[in-house]
Amino acid sequence: MENNPIHLLIQEDEITRLCQEFIRFDTTNPPGDERPMVEYIRDYLQPYGFETGLIEQGDKRATLVARLKGNGKKPAVVFNGHADVVPVGASQWQHPPFEGIIEEGKVWGRGSTDMKGGVAAMIVAAKALAQAHAPLEGDLIATVTTDEEVSMSGARELTQLPDAKNWQVVIIPEPTANNLGLAERGVFWPEFTTYGKTAHGSTPELGINAVMMMVHLLTELDKLPIPFQLHPILGNFTRSINTIQGGVKVNVVPDQCTALVDMRTVPGQDHQEILNLLKDFLAKLTKNVPDFNSNIRITFELPPVETSFQEPVVQQFINAARLVVNKDVPVVKIPFATEAAILVPALKVPTLIFGPGEPTLAHQPNEYIEISKMVEAAQIYAAAALAYLKG
Ligand SMILES: [Zn+2]
Repeated sequence: MENNPIHLLIQEDEITRLCQEFIRFDTTNPPGDERPMVEYIRDYLQPYGFETGLIEQGDKRATLVARLKGNGKKPAVVFNGHADVVPVGASQWQHPPFEGIIEEGKVWGRGSTDMKGGVAAMIVAAKALAQAHAPLEGDLIATVTTDEEVSMSGARELTQLPDAKNWQVVIIPEPTANNLGLAERGVFWPEFTTYGKTAHGSTPELGINAVMMMVHLLTELDKLPIPFQLHPILGNFTRSINTIQGGVKVNVVPDQCTALVDMRTVPGQDHQEILNLLKDFLAKLTKNVPDFNSNIRITFELPPVETSFQEPVVQQFINAARLVVNKDVPVVKIPFATEAAILVPALKVPTLIFGPGEPTLAHQPNEYIEISKMVEAAQIYAAAALAYLKG
């Protein structure tokens, strides 16, 4: 292998072609319909010796598990990407979003950056490992999930695989412009509802105004200390009151008002503790404000997650990347939630976010991916997997 490093097996035209093919599968989620793309990848890997299986998730949906067997002395290494994409949106695209047009050294289309270009890179890297016939001391698993953009149900299925709790590392090719992400903030979305009593708008003294109760609640909430420790990469815990709804008519005293708050948590914060704190806060308002009546409900949450920079698999990855790019890949903040939010808490597995896409283009119109970035990512994946799995 010394004379013929694995990353030299990576073919640019093959990654480009795969990325184009993936974009041509319309996997807009909802509804997703990822199955044809996932079957395409299964059929692509099978001839190279991968054992493949589909986790069925409804008629047109499935998650792929493709395994290149090692001798079992080391735990498996996992490349995990998602097949679904977010909707195209209303604005006119420069290139049609589901054709995978090549221009300016880029592949254009919905999902190119998030994350079909990354999936193309990881699949070609997995194939290169198979073709190299290097003796592997552990399995290399390539997984392609369904429904990352809505519920992360594909990732939840992966946590049920028999060997999942032993995996040595998961690499997720979400768009990081080939920088390394080790930590991401959590998502915590409480919904507050205040209740009042309806009355004619001309006799407000006969009613209880739920909107005014909400005004009171939100003013106090804004001042409520929610403890956190500043994170060296992720920075602050943040909160923002982003929707409010109440009342039906100008001449009716509103009896209900609802507000949603977007909270982004940092490692060290516990969502149950925050919920308890918010419940205590509401209990205090109930005690102190006449007629105050409210409720809280968590509409969605994903925990903050972090993999330590000191983990040996992180150092091995950086060393492998150095062989390809002649520098240490920078560690960056991941501004969005990834499937690490499911895998890390369930499996305690070190998880690295590293992908060729441009993070600012994710979910945007005129999304593209640079071909050279995909090639570089694939080379790094192959070099890292070999470093993890060789004897
Ligand atoms: Zn993504």
